[in-house]
Amino acid sequence: KLSPRLAAVAQLVETKQKMADIGSDHAYLASALVEQGKVAKAIVGEVAEGPLQNAKSTVSSQGLTGSIDCRLADGLAALSKTDEVETVVIAGMGGLLIKKILEDGQSLGPFQQLVLQPNTDQEALRAWLVQNGYRISQEKMVAEGVHHYEIIVAHPGQQKLSAEDLTFGPFLRKDKGPVFVAKWQHERDRLALVLKRLEEAQQTNSMKYAEVKRAVGQI
Ligand code: SAM
Repeated sequence: KLSPRLAAVAQLVETKQKMADIGSDHAYLASALVEQGKVAKAIVGEVAEGPLQNAKSTVSSQGLTGSIDCRLADGLAALSKTDEVETVVIAGMGGLLIKKILEDGQSLGPFQQLVLQPNTDQEALRAWLVQNGYRISQEKMVAEGVHHYEIIVAHPGQQKLSAEDLTFGPFLRKDKGPVFVAKWQHERDRLALVLKRLEEAQQTNSMKYAEVKRAVGQI
């Protein structure tokens, strides 16, 4: 059974012939998608030997060796054009790493669908997507324990995003769901505390103070 975070990622993957999960670790996502019949075939990529072994052991214990190919590679180097992958999932990593993986693999794209779950730097990832031939078509935020996770779905296309769209997500900021509100209230409280500390340290003229003040103003 998938965690709430991975279940939300799985739900956003479109029914297709072939998907790839880059940085799959245990290959739980690909196994669930094949078992649900949402994808016929999957490729899972891992840069590290240990997680690749985790993937292989899930795939063989579930009897899915005919449908899921486990490959050792850095990012999208796991794929070639002839694989004809339609959906690429990259989940559970920092946004800057996801951006780098997409950037390094640009010659293979654009993919029909991207499902991305960045743990950090969502803003930089959104900016990269719209600057590189994708439009964000859907977003979701899920809570798992004390954590909030953002999931971004993109398709080939054009889109203009405002500064607020980049920070908060064009769909998330319209929906204003309970997880979204909780995340940003928490962030605002955290930044207010940083401002207070800087004020106490008489650092109100510092770059840091101006930066944090600007960030709080955005929320
Ligand atoms: N995607 C799974 C999930 O969301 O639960 C696993 C996330 S795990 C925290 C991140 C995985 O990404 C690790 O297994 C790591 O080895 C892998 N990884 C990191 N950089 C990578 C890269 N450049 N190419 C492929 N895999 C990578």
